[in-house]
Amino acid sequence: MAKKIVTDLSVGGKKVLVRVDFNVPLKNGVITDDNRIVQALPTIQYLIDNHAKVILFSHLGKVKSEEDKARLSLRPVAERLSELLKKEVTFIPETRGEALETAINGLAEGDVLLFENTRFEDLDGKKESKNDPELGKYWASLGELFVNDAFGTAHRAHASNVGIASNIGEGNSASGFLVDKEIKFIGGAVDNPERPLVAILGGAKVSDKIAVIENLLEKADKVIIGGGMAYTFMKAQGKEIGISLCENDKVEYARELMAKAGDKLVLPVDNVVAKEFSNDAPSRVAQGDIQPDEEGLDIGPKSVELFKKTLEGAKTVIWNGPMGVFEMPNFAKGTIGVCEAIANLEGATTIIGGGDSATAAISLGYAEKFSHISTGGGASLEYLEGKVLPGIDSLSNK
Ligand code: AMP
Repeated sequence: MAKKIVTDLSVGGKKVLVRVDFNVPLKNGVITDDNRIVQALPTIQYLIDNHAKVILFSHLGKVKSEEDKARLSLRPVAERLSELLKKEVTFIPETRGEALETAINGLAEGDVLLFENTRFEDLDGKKESKNDPELGKYWASLGELFVNDAFGTAHRAHASNVGIASNIGEGNSASGFLVDKEIKFIGGAVDNPERPLVAILGGAKVSDKIAVIENLLEKADKVIIGGGMAYTFMKAQGKEIGISLCENDKVEYARELMAKAGDKLVLPVDNVVAKEFSNDAPSRVAQGDIQPDEEGLDIGPKSVELFKKTLEGAKTVIWNGPMGVFEMPNFAKGTIGVCEAIANLEGATTIIGGGDSATAAISLGYAEKFSHISTGGGASLEYLEGKVLPGIDSLSNK
């Protein structure tokens, strides 16, 4: 069932609670990357323009001690947000109580308020993260409508998303523009893709992505596997993989999966190997002849060509996970090659499922060439697994 989006709500003059993802990186209290704040601006600006009283809140990091509280205040975010909006943002350094309630009740139409890190509530029995029923009910009582624009936490049932949504009243909640975009792109690619749909999965471990591989093998026309997790499959093919990353307890599983998937599953045909896990280690391209003391740290040029060919003509592409240890420049060529191949596809919807592949595409300057780069690593993985995300599921239906 399609979910309401913010434009389906009548927000004028209303107190609108907005769960945003302001979980920004901080260094000594200074924001080092404000992308998450920037991403939330369309929904906030829409609410301002439509005369809502805007009440923002977010988690920031994990709060386990009083020191964490001192370190993880959202105050710097309020300052940055105010600069970006070119407008005053009232910051209330509380997550509940009279000061917060008075400030909310004093808001005029178009005003913006941000309250303190929702995870401050975790110090007392993990109330936020365990979706304490009283907390969700209390936060819901502070507003009249609820908008969830935090995709990064949509796979978790917390008080600040599911708790509020289930207490705000039928028909009174909706997704923000950012969450709606994630639903359209990732949900659309998995449930109703324009075909051929090609998925490219990489990263370190098979075990982290079993459910994604299985779901995408059902939904996609081709599933390409690279990165550290490919070696478990290569071992299952009976190949020598030396000291490459391998999950021995998953080799049998990989063998069964390959038998079931047939030529739908595409694996690397060559690898860049070294004797040490170091950027400066001498390396060579191995083609089925990895030596016992060698470790595969990237896919080789023939694999990049094979993957490029497999991508040709794709109408929808989902990419999650690097093809090698891309953090080391000498082992980043496979990831760069695949990134370029996807970015240069004509007429295809191209989606990156967050995490390391998003970092790679952004740092390579390809961000603009992708149709969508997910803002949530864990959430997008669970979405790709075909799971229902509670933070979205709890919102009002259209
Ligand atoms: P993940 O979080 O599962 O997407 O894994 C990403 C990590 O996998 C990155 O830090 C990569 O350096 C690492 N990785 C990718 N390929 C390899 C490989 N061949 N050997 C070791 N680590 C790898």
